[in-house]
Amino acid sequence: MSQHIYDYAIVGSGLTGLICANRLAQETKNVVLLDGLDHMGGINRPIPFPTGTLNNGLRFVPESASSHQALLFLEDLLGLKLIGESLSHPPLTFEDGKLREFVGFGDRPPAFYEQIRPLMSGQEIQTNLEPYQWTQLLQEKYQGVTMPRSFVTRFQIEDGKVHQLTINGAKTIRATNVIYTGHVKQLATLLGRDFLAPRVHQKLSKNVYWTALCLDLCHAKPITDSASIHILNGTTQDEIGPCAGRFLPAVETEKGPLQASQWVTFIEEEVTEDSEVVGTALKKIKRQIKRAYPEALEGLVRERIMVAPMIGGDGELKLSGDQTIPGVENLWIASAAMSPEHGLVGSIQQARLVLAALGFGKMESVAAEPSAEHQLEEGASL
Ligand SMILES: Cc1cc2nc3c(=O)[nH]c(=O)nc-3n(C[C@H](O)[C@H](O)[C@H](O)COP(=O)(O)OP(=O)(O)OC[C@H]3O[C@@H](n4cnc5c(N)ncnc54)[C@H](O)[C@@H]3O)c2cc1C
Repeated sequence: MSQHIYDYAIVGSGLTGLICANRLAQETKNVVLLDGLDHMGGINRPIPFPTGTLNNGLRFVPESASSHQALLFLEDLLGLKLIGESLSHPPLTFEDGKLREFVGFGDRPPAFYEQIRPLMSGQEIQTNLEPYQWTQLLQEKYQGVTMPRSFVTRFQIEDGKVHQLTINGAKTIRATNVIYTGHVKQLATLLGRDFLAPRVHQKLSKNVYWTALCLDLCHAKPITDSASIHILNGTTQDEIGPCAGRFLPAVETEKGPLQASQWVTFIEEEVTEDSEVVGTALKKIKRQIKRAYPEALEGLVRERIMVAPMIGGDGELKLSGDQTIPGVENLWIASAAMSPEHGLVGSIQQARLVLAALGFGKMESVAAEPSAEHQLEEGASL
């Protein structure tokens, strides 16, 4: 019996994959969405907490033309209004015994500067629904085939095309077009040494990738009304670098008023397995919170640690103009790390770029905006 051929196979069911899957399923129901995990939705999932449901780690949508474009596209796909107020709360830091406005890292940016940069913008788009709700709605709307517990372990290439996808090292499926949304580093394994030039293979394998180390806290009482992102680093330069976080609005509960806060720092992927490094980084985050808010850690109601591997690397792969891998004409790369915008906006924009390349919609260009740090530095020199 001949094997079924999907029109589109989408690898990864996070925000990026779900966007592609939803848009493509408007054209054909012959779409399959694959994920290695037993649930769909990727990293943006709801987390129950004593103060109510939280995003799975700190989320922040910086105000920019590209963010608006991305959210408008998502609004259109979901058929509801997402864009809320634009808010301005300059980032804060703790220095010389007091909280003050954060004015940048100067000439000593942390190695993971690109990962933390969007959080420093101070200008934020508030959304009417949280990112975990975006993926929930996209899952509800999607009308194609889903295959959880299906980890793609190999793209089999024949005549310059992905001919088959191997799943869990055993089963195969076929698709005319393949959209990949996982991390680019994994492509070294998925495509294999036979296909990638040794130089590209080595670059993908050796690049520095960052793992997000997240700490969510439920404080025993309200700590601050400030909605600003806090960039905290302490007085001495160390290998751990700064953390970023913020307090969410306090909530009235059966236990009285409680407040949650969410924090993140980044560690090199290679040392993620080293529990000492992770422990030291977590201790540093807590030390910085305590310096700024001495009572914040007293009687903590809940503490949650989350490690999100391979949140991003930097532009390690060159794609063809249509976002395919050079030499593989039916393999589109929609991984968020390929977008100049990192994070949620990068996910949406890269999905849009691939959809546009496939003939569904078009991408308007957006003038590159200076980074928050450059803006601050330029402002400071006036
Ligand atoms: C802690 C944390 C904080 C963040 N904070 C922000 C923020 O403040 N602002 C912001 O804009 N962005 C933020 N982001 C980033 C943002 O959430 C992500 O970039 C993006 O939304 C994730 O969507 P995704 O589809 O790219 O990836 P994911 O949600 O990670 O989904 C990828 C999916 O692909 C699957 N997969 C991967 N490889 C395979 C394979 N070979 N076979 C089958 N399945 C596979 C995975 O199982 C996963 O489900 C944050 C991310 C984290 C982790």
